[in-house]
Parts: sequence; C-alpha cells; structure tokens
Amino acid sequence: MTNEIREALAQFDRACEVYDFECEELEMLKYSQRIIEIAFPVRMDDGSFRVFRGYRVQHNDVRGPYKGGLRFHPEVNLDEVKALAFWMTIKCAVADIPYGGAKGGIKVDTKKVSKNELERITRSYTRHIAEFIGPEKDIPAPDMYTNPQVMAWVMDEYSHIVGRNTPAAVTGKPLTIGGSLGRDTATAQGGFYILEMLFKELKIKPAGLTFAVQGFGNAGMNMAKILAANNLKVVAVSDSSSGIHDPRGLDIEKLIVHKEKSGKLSGFAGAKTITNEQLLELPVKVLIPAALEAVITDANVNKIKADIIMELANGPVVMSACQKLHKRGVMVVPDVLANSGGVIVSYFEWVQNLRHFYWDMAKVQDHLKVQLSKAFKDVWQTAKKYDVNLRTGAYIVALGKITKALNVRGT
Ligand code: GLU
Repeated sequence: MTNEIREALAQFDRACEVYDFECEELEMLKYSQRIIEIAFPVRMDDGSFRVFRGYRVQHNDVRGPYKGGLRFHPEVNLDEVKALAFWMTIKCAVADIPYGGAKGGIKVDTKKVSKNELERITRSYTRHIAEFIGPEKDIPAPDMYTNPQVMAWVMDEYSHIVGRNTPAAVTGKPLTIGGSLGRDTATAQGGFYILEMLFKELKIKPAGLTFAVQGFGNAGMNMAKILAANNLKVVAVSDSSSGIHDPRGLDIEKLIVHKEKSGKLSGFAGAKTITNEQLLELPVKVLIPAALEAVITDANVNKIKADIIMELANGPVVMSACQKLHKRGVMVVPDVLANSGGVIVSYFEWVQNLRHFYWDMAKVQDHLKVQLSKAFKDVWQTAKKYDVNLRTGAYIVALGKITKALNVRGT
C-alpha cells in the first residue's frame, strides 16, 4: 500500500472512531468497486510505437454515477488513482451532488509528447475504457495536466463509439461543444468562496493579509488571479520548477504574461526566486497548496508558519501533519471541501448537457455559492459539534450521507 491510499483510509477510520455510523456496508468504502488497468500501444510521430499505461478506478456509486478527473502524469500509479477516486466519493457527498467517486490516469509526461501524440494517447485510452464510462455510468473531467482540449477528444471518441453526440459523457469541455461557463475557474472560485466564508466565521478582515500559492496550473493560477482581483496580497507563487517571492505582493496579471513569454516564473522583476519547499515555509496568513499530494508531511510540518492552509490540491497535507497543525491551532481547510467547486460546476455542466439548456455565468456562480455555503456550514457545524478538525468534520458529513444511501438501497 502506498502513502496516498493509506492516508485516505486513515482519514476514513478517523471519522468512524468519532462517529458510529451503524452501517456494516460502509466497509465497502475501503475498496474500489471496479479497477480498470490498461496498457495500449500508440504510434508516435516518428513512426515508432510506445506502450502507455492507464487506469480508471471506480470507487463507489451508491449516491450516483461515478465522477472524477483524468490525470496525465509521469508518476501516476494505481494506488494514487485509488486514493483520488476515494476522495471523489467523499467530495461529492460533502458537496451534496448526486455522484459517486472515480479517477483516471495515464502515465505520460505531457511536456515530452506532441499535441498529435497526446490526442492519439487520449483517444486510445478512451476506446479502452469506453464500455465502462458514459453519462449515467462514469463521467471523466480534467485533472492535473489535462484540459478542455483533452476532454473534447474524450467526448468525440466516445460519441463515435456510441454513435451519437454525447456531451454529457465528460465535463470540463470547451464551451463550443457543451462546456459550462465558469468551469475553467470553478476550482479556484469555489476555494475563494470558502475562504470568504471562513474569514467571516473567524471574524477576520481579509484586507492586508498575505497569501502564498503553490502550483500555477488551472487551480493555482486562477486562485492567485482571483485573490489579486479582490485586492488581496499574493506574496509568493510557484510552479513545478521554482517559486518567486515578493513581500510587497506580486502583480499576478503581469506575472502570467511573464510566464507565457519566458516559460517560467523566475526572473520576474522585483521578486526573489525561491524553491517550492521555501514557499511552504513562508510566514504568510494563508498557504494554498494547489499542486501535488503530500507536500506537507511530518518532515516539514514544524516549519509551517501559515495560520490557515487551504487544500486546493487533492491530499497535500498528510493526516499526521494535519493533526499536528490542528493542535497548534492552524486551520486546514480540507481538499474535499476546499477544491469541490470544480466538480460542483462539472455537475452543472452535466445537467446543462442532459437538458440541452445552457446557463449564464451569473446562474453558475449563484448556484456554486449556494451549494458551497451549505457544504461549508455542514462541515463547520459538524466539526464544532464533535470537537474535531475540519477534515474529520467533512468525513462525518460525507459518510453520513453515504450511509443513508447504503442503508436505504440495501445490498
Ligand atoms: N479533477 C477535479 C477534482 O479532483 C474535478 C473532477 C470533476 O470535475 O469531475 O475534483
């Protein structure tokens, strides 16, 4: 067992220690209902063939069809995908959207293949898992190093296989083929709404506070952008190669232009280059890990100086570190709540596809806010009631809903 799945199960066990769910079937959650592991050859641009490995893990569908992203990463492995699928089951239950949890992955470094190769890899993967996915079965979406273009290829390939245009088979698509307004920024926007609710609850005035964001992909970059647009001070950001720090605050719009031009964050005028590790240890009010799993562990937890950690990535703070932070009074807003804006707007996209009726931005944002306010309130009150951290609070909320579904459905 690797760390990720051990982590996921420890979080599950912790909630069961605090709350007696009175449901024998809940043990099901320790396992994935279906694991698809594939290998497939793809013709590369130079005419050679390369074999790729891919996964789709369908963790649990008691509350609705499986739902979860598709990740392209050179280090993707089955245990990681299993943990990520488990977290999707919990996340969808916390957010109270009618889905179960799944996750997919292809072991590929997107920086080392061409666009045409990536398209062939995506289409071949889709053909191999096509019988297991679909609007009522399992709906993939973007995750690390996948984007609307990749979703368009999945949707197109799937539509060819089933013989009809099926936009609801995947979410996070480009707008022209049934994507939803606001889906591209939904993870960050949702995180921002949660922060606003947290500040209100803690009676903190956000003006003048400092923020550091680890990761400059879809979630991290948009989060930095939204914070800056709300006149909040982002003092540090990083991507996979390095970070930058300026205690006076970074001009995020200019930084995005700089990164587009130079391909990196370092070298941005007035800012000091730092490592990813240093970013995590900066004396900021809010630290937002928005990249990989397990970046805050027992090894660096004592050096963390932030008061609030917002998990925009999946699984960035390991459980033992999270408990230590909680004891020290550092608040960790758990991934299953903090980054749920993405899958919530995925749900809106799916609803729009099934109805063939499209929403304007205001409607997407309003509904996102409503959904998240309820989730935040449930988690906050549950954590208070049982005197536990927000992660265990979130798990109690989620497992309560899953238990109800298991009990009423029977086996
Ligand atoms: N990959 C995102 C997540 O981890 C979004 C999943 C989705 O929209 O289905 O939550």
